[in-house]
Amino acid sequence: MRFAPSPTGSLHLGNALTAVVNRRFADAHGGALVLRIDDTDPSRTVAGGEEAILADLAWLGVDWDEGPVRQSERGDLYRAAAERALASGAATRDDEGAVRLVREGTTLLRADGTATYQLASVVDDLDLRITHVIRGSDHRPNLELQRAIARALGGELPEVVHHGLLLGPDGRKLSKRHGHASLADLRDEGFPAQAVRAYLEELDLPEHDVRLDLARLRRLATDAIAAMSDEELAESAGAPVEAVAAMRGARSLVEAREYAQLVLQPLPADVPAEARATLERFAELRERAPERLSLEEARAIVRELKAVGGDLRALRLALTGATRGPELAAVLVAVPRDEALARVATALGGP
Ligand code: GLU
Repeated sequence: MRFAPSPTGSLHLGNALTAVVNRRFADAHGGALVLRIDDTDPSRTVAGGEEAILADLAWLGVDWDEGPVRQSERGDLYRAAAERALASGAATRDDEGAVRLVREGTTLLRADGTATYQLASVVDDLDLRITHVIRGSDHRPNLELQRAIARALGGELPEVVHHGLLLGPDGRKLSKRHGHASLADLRDEGFPAQAVRAYLEELDLPEHDVRLDLARLRRLATDAIAAMSDEELAESAGAPVEAVAAMRGARSLVEAREYAQLVLQPLPADVPAEARATLERFAELRERAPERLSLEEARAIVRELKAVGGDLRALRLALTGATRGPELAAVLVAVPRDEALARVATALGGP
């Protein structure tokens, strides 16, 4: 098998699907997966594009057995193949020096001696002894031509399967405009890698085009965060493990990081004067409890305050500087006693 991205930058989600499908198929059949970088077209090669793809694959947990094989380093192979096609009469050289397939008229080698995608792809599929190609259906129009090129080279194209493409929620080609189009987008939006991988695995090998189901992806993100160990969650969110109690209910890693910030570095806040009684009562309860609370102990304090009609919103404001955030009890767990008392004292106008 091979996964053959062009180095245009972070992988499009549809390309990530191709990668996952190829890895799964190779594993299921005891095969090997070659990572091939299709960098014959300078206009589709961006600086850092290959590095971005390698980082994306690592993030997604897709590994490969051979490569990266770069087409830009295999020019001699493609030129030799073009010579074979010329020798057999399957190809001709035009006045400018480009080599074309006689029957289809397609360019195999440009006048400057560089191979086109069509030639390079077929030569590599034969040379790397690829047995099965699985790729997006946007390449279906290339199939017959590539078969003809393979025959002109004295070979046979591997078995080729095309999968449906990933569309935006509106049914159009998933693009930057939609957001969530590339793995970099999804990572920036705080989707854990496990959720993206699980989503792509669920799509299996779609026969037809499928719309990106954001609700499902979000659901998988919540599940993935819930399934992480404290250390994993802290590391994925880029926040210290001390704040993990506050990160637990987050629906994305971005939200988890925000929640951690709230307990680690509260925003400045004005707490209403009427909240004084609540804050004083909280200080009494908190004083008597251990330095670090369990979730049950924290919930018990919240219940007590609620029972006396306490202003829980003001307490949250005093502790985090925000009116929204993780469950209040989770905040109490994440903020140690002395720190909580200091924040309440500040809100009460203390030192
Ligand atoms: N480099 C092509 C792409 O990025 C892959 C072509 C193929 O799989 O044959 O879509």
